[in-house]
Amino acid sequence: MNNNNAPVGRRGRYHAPLRALLRRSAAGLLRHLLPNACALCGGDSDDALCPGCEAQFFGPDAAVPRCMRCANPLPVASPSQASGAGPAGPPSLLLPPSAMQLCGVCLADAPAFDRTVVAADYALPLDQLVLQLKFGHRLALAPLCARLLRDAVQQAPDVTLPALLCPVPLGPRRLAERGYNQALEIARPLARSLGLALHAQLVLRVHDTAAQSSVAPDRRQHNIAGAFAVPDAALVAGRHIGVVDDVMTSGRTLNELAATLKRHGAARITNLVFARTPPH
Ligand SMILES: [Zn+2]
Ligand SMILES: [Zn+2]
Repeated sequence: MNNNNAPVGRRGRYHAPLRALLRRSAAGLLRHLLPNACALCGGDSDDALCPGCEAQFFGPDAAVPRCMRCANPLPVASPSQASGAGPAGPPSLLLPPSAMQLCGVCLADAPAFDRTVVAADYALPLDQLVLQLKFGHRLALAPLCARLLRDAVQQAPDVTLPALLCPVPLGPRRLAERGYNQALEIARPLARSLGLALHAQLVLRVHDTAAQSSVAPDRRQHNIAGAFAVPDAALVAGRHIGVVDDVMTSGRTLNELAATLKRHGAARITNLVFARTPPH
């Protein structure tokens, strides 16, 4: 159970950094000593996440309205702002919670994918789940990410389930270094729990690209362009494809993948991503 009462949901609102660092270090130590420890708070837990942390970070109170296309958080009008009586704010950015929800970026320049569902923001402390899965070889976290993502899919408004799922593929060198593709590790249990087919090789990464995070923002589109290939277009043509990944940052990788699938005739693309990096 995480007893921290400070707001920890977003970078920049994270207070008492020293206390938090000590707590995380202690949690990391506990995880190594106790196999049944919560991945976030280190407390005793039969599951990868204790009920307290799950309620705090994935319960109904943690849900935020998001753009249906790219999953970035949307500003929500308070009742007084919605009626025009509240303090000044850019009125065009204030949407009632029930509106058809697209962000200004997607309205101005729609990406190649049609829908994105995420389970969480990629921010402290939830980024730890992905970092442990990806770089800490804690593969037991993949089914947890898949379950939380399935819950997000089932709770999101107006979601049409895809006909089949595929993971964002890793390049051969990255796969050899890591030994597994974390997106595929999430996609397997997710496909099972949603009753969907999974095609691990539906899309291939035809050349190794530098990690997008290591490339300057103005070079990221160039870095990812032409990275993907579809070996069997018959599996894709006319179908609604679900693309699974662990983290969505700028969205360029998912956009390139969706554009590639659509060039091969895909009818619709829904991204199913565990965590979304909030815009700066
Ligand atoms: Zn916990
Ligand atoms: Zn958007």
